[in-house]
Amino acid sequence: MAFVNIKENYSLRHLISFRVGGEARFFCEIETNEQFLEVKKKAIQQNKPLFILGRGTNVVISDKGFDGYIVKLSRSFSELSIEDSIIKAKAATPLSRIARVSIQNNLSGMHLLAGIPGTLGGAIYMNAGAYGQEISQTVIEVKSINDQGQIITRDASACSFSYRHSIFQDNKECVLEASFQLTKGSKDALEKEMNTVMQKRRDSQPLEYPNAGSVFKRTPQDFPGALVEKAGLKGFSIGGAMVSPKHANFIINTGNATAQNIYDLTSAIIETVFKQTGITLEREIIFLGDF
Ligand SMILES: Cc1cc2nc3c(=O)[nH]c(=O)nc-3n(C[C@H](O)[C@H](O)[C@H](O)COP(=O)(O)OP(=O)(O)OC[C@H]3O[C@@H](n4cnc5c(N)ncnc54)[C@H](O)[C@@H]3O)c2cc1C
Repeated sequence: MAFVNIKENYSLRHLISFRVGGEARFFCEIETNEQFLEVKKKAIQQNKPLFILGRGTNVVISDKGFDGYIVKLSRSFSELSIEDSIIKAKAATPLSRIARVSIQNNLSGMHLLAGIPGTLGGAIYMNAGAYGQEISQTVIEVKSINDQGQIITRDASACSFSYRHSIFQDNKECVLEASFQLTKGSKDALEKEMNTVMQKRRDSQPLEYPNAGSVFKRTPQDFPGALVEKAGLKGFSIGGAMVSPKHANFIINTGNATAQNIYDLTSAIIETVFKQTGITLEREIIFLGDF
């Protein structure tokens, strides 16, 4: 078995969509399940945390860095296959690729997820969704690996999916692959629907700036963007982090933001919205390390 090449004090900025943050004490890309286990064992022995990084599109890592192991699944975990109406994909496969391949194969159920820039693993972990489609809606089963190296297969009902939540947030297993039951559709109609939502994204989201998608989760009372806008915070900034003037549930890096700027801005928003409405916004973006 090839040993894992573990890099020390590794800058993560280029792997985080916000383009901010510090270094990982240890960083590696793994190619096999065995390598995952090898690194997991090291982390446990050294009493260090281990964090699995997908495409970094929902994460901010502290400017002070992360005193643990950051593990990325290499290209060997990016693979997908189709049989009848079932798509099976490994965890590092980009969600956009799965959505596009499903359309090419006249399959409906994941085509509206095309604009989510993360991996399959990140999408399962987050139960990512958009425009009425959530990844959990089509999941047949998910395979993951735990600390002991056991491969566990769960059907969708055992994954505790709910809005932006899955069991993998609680058990910290590494998602390896998932399969999806799609339904027959027409390529042209699916493509049209996908193009419509992609255009909606371009029109409403500040995609020209580094960001990490929606900052806050939906609340029972109102959309977070509406709450932030009503609080008069559109365009409000701390350092290089700004509430997007285009979409109030996005924070953008205007050029020189730090991870701390982004975190402080979320705290200021939570405080202001709470004072004005009594509603507590909850962060959807994951902040890793000390803030
Ligand atoms: C422009 C933009 C638009 C976005 N639009 C949407 C949207 O419409 N809907 C939506 O839901 N999200 C959206 N997002 C947020 C983000 O893309 C999703 O949450 C995505 O699923 C995260 O995937 P990732 O690979 O980038 O994960 P990361 O951000 O790298 O990680 C997110 C979490 O998943 C965990 N994780 C990653 N891979 C694995 C694995 N293999 N096993 C276990 N845990 C794992 C990480 O440890 C981390 O806790 C958007 C982001 C951006 C930048």
